[in-house]
Amino acid sequence: MKPAERIDRVPPSGIRRFFELAEQREDVISLGVGEPDFAAPWAAREAGIASLEQGKTSYTANRGRQDLRAAIAEDVDHRYDLDYDPDEEILVTAGASEAVDLAFRAFVDPGDTVAVAQPCYVSYVPGVRFAGGEVCPVPTRREDEFTLTPEVLADAGANEAEMLVLCYPNNPTGATMSRDELAEVADFARQHDLTVVSDEIYAELSYEHDHTSIATLPGMRERTIVINGFSKAYAMTGLRLGYVLAPAGATRAMNRVHQYTMLSAPTTAQHVALEALDSCEDVVAEMVSQYDRRRNLVLSRFEEMGIDCFPASGAFYAFPTTPWEDSEAFAEALLEETGVAAVPGDAFGEGGHGHLRVSYATGMDGLKEALDRIERFVETHDDPDA
Ligand code: PMP
Repeated sequence: MKPAERIDRVPPSGIRRFFELAEQREDVISLGVGEPDFAAPWAAREAGIASLEQGKTSYTANRGRQDLRAAIAEDVDHRYDLDYDPDEEILVTAGASEAVDLAFRAFVDPGDTVAVAQPCYVSYVPGVRFAGGEVCPVPTRREDEFTLTPEVLADAGANEAEMLVLCYPNNPTGATMSRDELAEVADFARQHDLTVVSDEIYAELSYEHDHTSIATLPGMRERTIVINGFSKAYAMTGLRLGYVLAPAGATRAMNRVHQYTMLSAPTTAQHVALEALDSCEDVVAEMVSQYDRRRNLVLSRFEEMGIDCFPASGAFYAFPTTPWEDSEAFAEALLEETGVAAVPGDAFGEGGHGHLRVSYATGMDGLKEALDRIERFVETHDDPDA
């Protein structure tokens, strides 16, 4: 069978070979994965178990349970000052991943251009291509602390695009953007009539300042699709639950795809999520404070090693500059010789080369051991290309 042409337009994931290497060793400490090392809060898991005991195993409404949508509306209003109608403007999805895909499938016509701030989460570029769109990469820079600016947008030609995708707090850099910085991006988006897809899945994990959603800036609500979910803050990656906040017409368009391809998001997960929003604020706060402690450790250890690492202020990633020019070679040699797996920045698109994504969503003991191994490696291995 010959796959459709658009499948060939999307190469297999560049980090696969890297993880195959990691699987061949027994003493691997992985700083490579983008998911919490915690389990979801127990009270939330218990609610899921109870829902199963009660036989709640049917589909839900296409848009998700009404009580969950109402709880999401209250939560995002309380935390981020986002005001969305649970009946018309919220769509519950199978993870933020489905939400990303729906945004492209509902709003990108073949040939449309989507500007994607990079380095970025690995699914945006394939998602645009599957929808038939063209990607305009917008490389953010270390000297701007990986924030998006009107200058990098203009330099990349994003003014010609129909849509802009951004993600703050960012995977893989750990960068966040302040309200003032986002206001400049918002001006650019309005000026050039861009639809904005704002992936805010790491919003809860903002350590230095409160998270601002670009949708709260003047004139942005009507042109923004906000994506969030339960995977990161609530440690629910395997339960596959996310959501979209967008004006009624936009969620209606996305629901058109969702109702036929997914029908409804996982039912048990919706029960878990409802309880998580209801009673698990303290557990989430404790996880966030543990990530923050690990972040401080990672940043200070890289500083002690003399490795340039910009002060990541969100998500659970640090993004140091690799001591070797060739970041892929560095990551590979580090893995082969020390068993520490971290992903080369190259895997996340333009602007990622020369960096390493270090996930600190791993226990303190393993993290300390991994940092010790990195230190010894760096002390004993000069750049072979230097
Ligand atoms: N967006 C970003 C930026 C992510 O890092 C991830 C997960 N790594 C996702 C979306 C997907 O999240 P979910 O598990 O909710 O599909």
